Amino acid sequence: MALIVQKYGGSSVADAESIKRVAKRIVDTRRAGHDVVVAVSAMGDTTDEMLDLAHEVAPIPAPRELDMLLSSGERISMALLAMAIHSMGFEARSFTGSQAGMITDSHHGKARIVDVTPVRLREALDEGAIVIVAGFQGFNRDTRDITTLGRGGSDTTAVALAAALKADVCEIYSDVDGIYTADPRVIPRAAKLDHISSEEMLELAANGAKVLYIRAVEYARRHRVLIHARSTFSSAEGTYVLGEGMKNPRESEGAAMEEPIVAGVATDLSQAKITVAGVPDVPGKAAEIFKIVSKSGANVDMIVQNVSAASTGRTDISFTLSKADAAGTIKALAAEQSAVGFENLLHDDQIGKLSVVGAGMRTHSGVSEILFDALSRGGVNIEMISTSEIRISVVVRGSDLAQAAQAVHTAYGLDSEIEAVVHAGTGR
Ligand code: ADP
Ligand code: ASP
Ligand code: MG
Repeated sequence: MALIVQKYGGSSVADAESIKRVAKRIVDTRRAGHDVVVAVSAMGDTTDEMLDLAHEVAPIPAPRELDMLLSSGERISMALLAMAIHSMGFEARSFTGSQAGMITDSHHGKARIVDVTPVRLREALDEGAIVIVAGFQGFNRDTRDITTLGRGGSDTTAVALAAALKADVCEIYSDVDGIYTADPRVIPRAAKLDHISSEEMLELAANGAKVLYIRAVEYARRHRVLIHARSTFSSAEGTYVLGEGMKNPRESEGAAMEEPIVAGVATDLSQAKITVAGVPDVPGKAAEIFKIVSKSGANVDMIVQNVSAASTGRTDISFTLSKADAAGTIKALAAEQSAVGFENLLHDDQIGKLSVVGAGMRTHSGVSEILFDALSRGGVNIEMISTSEIRISVVVRGSDLAQAAQAVHTAYGLDSEIEAVVHAGTGR
């Protein structure tokens, strides 16, 4: 008998029918003799709809109240799921994040889990109940307020519960059969991976692959939680995310195969580019600019500084950041224009980021050559480039992104024979 944590995403519980399907899956796991703890997301696109509504009543909704609002989505699905399980003759008990002991810092909208005290969950399990926990939310002890963990945060709830309860596995159920070499909505011939290292998954998640939330992968890595990403809509085995030294449960002793050089391709349309033009090319200007940017709360991703024009002694500095942070950052920079002494600010939200990720890049040369060659043959212009040890990213026009990703995916030999299935969801 094992303790299994299961997480069901929004598209898995979008309506009454889906909730009943999920309930059956949970009951089947219980029938097989396992203890089950479930983390559940809000139904369908509920979170997005509530966000839209909030912005209709207030341009910048108060963060505390926004968390109050958004956390209600998961309360709805957890109660409905528990009811559905009851009607199948099994005992289920739902808990909010705070009842489940999800203690976070006080950062509304992006709170970090600082402690998990699942006393009530343990009690319910000991009494033979199936435990259902509202994903995506927690509680701060100092402010005594409800917090949320950031978009996609139910994944983190599940992993944190798995770590605290010492579960055997954390199964993350969504509308695709596992982790693919690319988003199957963008590249239909993406191939399903049997397993992926948590290091590679972190890079993919950080660069737009929302199949797993980056903080959940981080948390799993730190606490050695085994993640199995799989589909609610089929019984096919999914993809294991393996931390350092973790064994693939499917692999027999000594059967380890050589890993491919490139694990996958990620695409991201959620970023914007800001260019600070005509910056005096003297020491200290970049520091001044990025101090302003960081004060505005934005997370900068790529940075490029042009060679300065000899005639003017001025240069341009471009950087990318989340679209959501762009307006605030531009405002902050504009307020300091004369103090910093730059000439102009440009805002471009039509960019797309393409990233190629693979641990094999450390030891193999020629990986970037394939990328640049594929883009050049596809006539795709590169605007920015950045690299890490196991990743190469380029910024291109957003309208070129899908075609560029397809060309690159093919060039690395990642295309599968069969088309990937996306079972549900709107991809929102
Ligand atoms: P959930 O609502 O269950 O949390 P998400 O929508 O957050 O599900 O994540 C699943 C989606 O992630 C898929 O529908 C797919 O479009 C997208 N995705 C992006 N990159 C990948 C990838 N490499 N493999 C699988 N799915 C991916
Ligand atoms: N409901 C939240 C969201 O849409 C959390 C999640 O689904 O993981 O972001
Ligand atoms: Mg998700």
